[in-house]
Amino acid sequence: MAVELMFAKYAPKNLEPKNSIGAKWLRLLDTVDLASVVAGKRTAIKLHLGGNVGFTSIHPFFVRKLVDKIKQAGAAQVFATDGAGAVRSAVDRGYTQEVLGCQIVPVSGTADRYFYTQPVEPPFLSLSEVELAGEIVDAEALIDLSHVKGHGDCGFGGASKNLSMGAVTGRTRGAIHGLEGGLVWDEEKCVNCGACVENCPNGAMSFDKQGKLNVFYHHCKFCQHCVLICPEKAIRMEGGRYKDFQKGMALATTKVLETFQDKNVLYINFLVDVTIFCDCWGMTTPAIVPDIGILAGRDIVAVEQASLDMIRMEDLIPGSLPEGTELGDTGHLFERIHRKDPYVVIDYLEELGNGTRDYVVTEVE
Ligand code: SF4
Ligand code: SF4
Repeated sequence: MAVELMFAKYAPKNLEPKNSIGAKWLRLLDTVDLASVVAGKRTAIKLHLGGNVGFTSIHPFFVRKLVDKIKQAGAAQVFATDGAGAVRSAVDRGYTQEVLGCQIVPVSGTADRYFYTQPVEPPFLSLSEVELAGEIVDAEALIDLSHVKGHGDCGFGGASKNLSMGAVTGRTRGAIHGLEGGLVWDEEKCVNCGACVENCPNGAMSFDKQGKLNVFYHHCKFCQHCVLICPEKAIRMEGGRYKDFQKGMALATTKVLETFQDKNVLYINFLVDVTIFCDCWGMTTPAIVPDIGILAGRDIVAVEQASLDMIRMEDLIPGSLPEGTELGDTGHLFERIHRKDPYVVIDYLEELGNGTRDYVVTEVE
């Protein structure tokens, strides 16, 4: 049976404030029966707080209004959460306790050591367990509040990536990324510009005294920033097993959701500022399609499917992609950009029993 998703369209039918996305957001939240998710519960809002000079994560206005509505719906407690690094610098991008109206806590502690280990049975390749972030496991209700955008490793990031990469420890994130393959450096092509070392978000790269590039795999999270930033294409990911990466993501997402036995989870996807890369790049680039709106529902598979379906090739904004980007001939817009089918993770999520791809969209007036 088709799952109903609520949708607030970004474009207003006229210029009255009540028809703008800010006002529609409040009405959308009134349609999703928040009380049935959060009433009497310790409620976590998992979102990405962005990083460095990136400012297109979900605007604090929307988070503040969501927090107000969660309180009105009778939550016992509400807090916003993300990785420790993003929490530490959140104030730079306008996220504070005062603005949001709730605490902002590191999802797995300030040292990334607060987690619960869950086995993956049977193991999937090298993934035999996942370390689930302690603050998510301890919560009784979850709002999976996600910014939808492209992603170099798996095509796109939305509700599933917010949990599989954002509600686990750095070690598990690295293990899931590692399913895709290892890094290979081509010395012949390298011009020693240093961009890869400088831009590795985890300090995992260095040149040794002999001028050889070393990767410290204990720190590497296989994000592939170095692969994408190298002007000479001197670093590549060996294996290119992006489908294994996507399956790892789906497995981790499933493990996170299993901790909410009574299914007290609401998924909200923001199809706004849809950029080519993930917020974890720590920078903002142009939106590649016009702002679409906000989707909400109780089924992660349906929400992800509908989100991708709404991001259409024909809406690509000319000039929004980095210079020199060559588009592939077929598939979803994200597949043409990143050469990776973004629907794969949704197939796995459905296969693992997390929901259905069959949806209907009801627009909030
Ligand atoms: S893949 Fe990411 S974490 Fe690993 S070395 Fe490259 S930039 Fe650093
Ligand atoms: S970014 Fe590429 S060219 Fe520059 S130092 Fe790293 S590997 Fe070499």
